[in-house]
Amino acid sequence: MREKFDPVARRRHEGEKARDICLRPWKTAVPPVRVSPHTWYVGNEWVGVFWIDTGDGLILLDAGMPPQTYLIFEGMRTHGFDPHDIKLALLSHAHFDHCGGMKAVIEYTGAKLYAAAEDSEELIHPTELLKNDYQIVVPDAAYRPSERITLGSIGVEPVVVGGHPPGTTCFFYTDRDEAEKEYSVGIHGGLGLSKLADEYFSRAEDAFTARDAYRRAQEMVIGRPVDIALSFHPYNVGIVERSTAADGDWRAQIDPSAWRSMEEVRLQNLTDLEEASVFQRR
Ligand SMILES: [Zn+2]
Ligand SMILES: [Zn+2]
Repeated sequence: MREKFDPVARRRHEGEKARDICLRPWKTAVPPVRVSPHTWYVGNEWVGVFWIDTGDGLILLDAGMPPQTYLIFEGMRTHGFDPHDIKLALLSHAHFDHCGGMKAVIEYTGAKLYAAAEDSEELIHPTELLKNDYQIVVPDAAYRPSERITLGSIGVEPVVVGGHPPGTTCFFYTDRDEAEKEYSVGIHGGLGLSKLADEYFSRAEDAFTARDAYRRAQEMVIGRPVDIALSFHPYNVGIVERSTAADGDWRAQIDPSAWRSMEEVRLQNLTDLEEASVFQRR
């Protein structure tokens, strides 16, 4: 039988992991994982970032939390890359575990930073983020609908879906192996439901609005054809486990059904959360 989604247990689990990542990032660090011909995951078991080697510089997607910055740079160097080659940085959303290290990354690399316009207010005049050690970072540009961000051989299509916070952005691009075979890669920007729990809402209307936005966000991208499904929280799709079982072969990440099932699990979790909620539509 399917295990019921328990938002309280999940939050406790994520809270403990998050503390380790903030204070002792080495405890949960994983070696960089190659996830497509030109993409690597680096970070922790809980959260991390991706870098893409475009042949004309690197694209960094997210920056993790401040203590993780050294993991990113060290991981790149152990694979023969120079962090100074990061030319573009793309942010998935304005939560501390994704944007906390961005200021250091941008200062060190001089990369151009893109973020969703919907989240720029929080990045520049933070409210939630101030509860952490967030250092303000000002995006250089906002994502524009159906406009690819191109560097070298890679053109990344950012799709702002919202739902998690309003600026949550998914990324889609085509990668090619040495035989020029193409793979569509999808990176989900944010699937966490913790901020949809009852305790965040005093009015039923606000809970309905946020939960409906989350459902719309998943439905907006669930039908995308994706060969390699990725998430900044690697357990969402088993990135590390797939890689370990295949001795680091990136082909282990190819699974054209993974994107849809990742989304379906979260939609089911949302339904569980709504059914258990004190806020009910009548
Ligand atoms: Zn988040
Ligand atoms: Zn997160």
